[in-house]
Amino acid sequence: MKISFKMLILSFMTLFICFTADAKVIIAIDAGHGGKDSGAIGKKNLYEKDVTLSIANKLMTIMNKDPEIKAILTRKNDSYISVFQRSEIARKNKADLLISIHADSAPNRNATGASVWVLSTKRADTELGRWLEKHEKQSELLGGAGDVLSGEASHPYLSQAVLDLQFSYAQRVGYGLASDILKEMNKVVTLHKREPEHASLGVLRSPDIPSVLIEVGFISNLSEERLLKSQTHQDKIAQAIYRGLKIYIKKNPMIKEKH
Ligand SMILES: [Zn+2]
Repeated sequence: MKISFKMLILSFMTLFICFTADAKVIIAIDAGHGGKDSGAIGKKNLYEKDVTLSIANKLMTIMNKDPEIKAILTRKNDSYISVFQRSEIARKNKADLLISIHADSAPNRNATGASVWVLSTKRADTELGRWLEKHEKQSELLGGAGDVLSGEASHPYLSQAVLDLQFSYAQRVGYGLASDILKEMNKVVTLHKREPEHASLGVLRSPDIPSVLIEVGFISNLSEERLLKSQTHQDKIAQAIYRGLKIYIKKNPMIKEKH
């Protein structure tokens, strides 16, 4: 079967555009670190892994009250899971978006503020290469692209084209979501960076699930460590992330895929 590139793009886009009014947006909330991996530790002994889990739980509670959203957690307790497992869990749950929660640390203890990170193009290229090598894994990709890749029409250039589209889709959505979350976070916390930053960080690797990584503040800064420990402050952060997500969904209703 001969598939023109235009046809391919069209069928690919319909996969994302076809949505139903009652479809929920599935959000994978990823609490950074856990178990033997404590993440950053503050001077007053606050563990990043505890802060991330607490905010993730609050965020899940808020989101699951919203009929438009179904939120799941990549970890529910103080257990260790690898970066790779985190995106696998999100994929198994058919997540439309992944929001990873972290707290920052820096040798300069004066550094403060939150930042939001998205997949860098360099990392996207590396991951693209990895996915192209793993033919058996390609069929697991969401959005039907896996079927295209593992079907009879499978061809290295076709695989590359589809994965390229998926990565640029994931990057674009990730950046848009990150911007809306930053704007809302700016109302309740100090920002370290006002624009989304591009990074080659662990969990920002899925070609099929747009992902953002939120550094909620610096645990290495004494006053932010105190804030990050506070339930009220954690609530404010969770609410701001939720509001940012809602604004993004409102502007981009096609994010609601048919499941
Ligand atoms: Zn971290």
